[in-house]
Amino acid sequence: MSKPTPTEIGDAYDASADLLDQVWGENLHHGYWVDAADDASLRQAGNRLTDRLAGLLAIKPGDRLLDIGCGVGEPAIQLASAHDIDVVGVSISQRQVRRANDRAAAAGLAGRLSFQHGDAMDLPFPDESFDLVWALESLHHMPDRWHVISKAARILRPGGRMAIGDFLLSGAEGTEADAASVDLVRNGVLKLVDIETYQSHLRAAGLVPDDAEDVSDHTRPSWGKAAELFEAARALAEQHIGAAQLNLTISRFHQLSAAPTVGYVLLTAHKPA
Ligand code: SAH
Repeated sequence: MSKPTPTEIGDAYDASADLLDQVWGENLHHGYWVDAADDASLRQAGNRLTDRLAGLLAIKPGDRLLDIGCGVGEPAIQLASAHDIDVVGVSISQRQVRRANDRAAAAGLAGRLSFQHGDAMDLPFPDESFDLVWALESLHHMPDRWHVISKAARILRPGGRMAIGDFLLSGAEGTEADAASVDLVRNGVLKLVDIETYQSHLRAAGLVPDDAEDVSDHTRPSWGKAAELFEAARALAEQHIGAAQLNLTISRFHQLSAAPTVGYVLLTAHKPA
């Protein structure tokens, strides 16, 4: 298996939209748990991860933010509600875009949020047209993260800031080979990089790296919670994706949950003024 193309990823999100909505919820990303005693739900913990990344970004009222890989718009709605900003979101899934626009309208935010279908490998925005770029758990899907980041850096105005939440090759001695027990890493679907590599690509895109927070221990419980949620919704999930695919999905969640080298990082960077 090789990395799916953007079109295949969009089709997969379109096909699983209802299932994800009912089982995973509207945050299509990991949660953040404080410690082992923290019993927050996946939804609460998902909102927290958004807050945590936003906290690193120093958002100002009136900022214009580009959300790369916007899902069904939950992070954008949360950010716009808390910070009084405008958001343009892009997703490769048509169904997500429709749902995100409907959800923004229902939240009374249609004037400030808009979501459009597109491939982030080919972002259709002029240079220096956004104050902020946000990519939460979307870059790992892209055929070339660094290409997307370098184009996004051009789209940022001088002094603008970028926030990224992404999978991480975690641990000082970690190599991708150490993570090879994880199917998705071995078969090339999930490419992991360490923080230094990430930051060197941010620099190559003309950005200055700021924060890099390894939150792996706080996000890792997400895999186990996801496995539990899909197991609990087995009948519904089997209707959508079949028993074989469901069992594979759940076993992959368990693999990921047990792999210390598969981590999660929150990064920020800015474009020199
Ligand atoms: N950031 C959202 C969604 C994360 S799921 C959230 O936190 O809820 C990953 C997202 O990346 C999906 O919206 C998917 O459609 C989008 N995506 C993946 N590949 C893409 C591409 N090539 N172009 C645009 N969006 C892409």
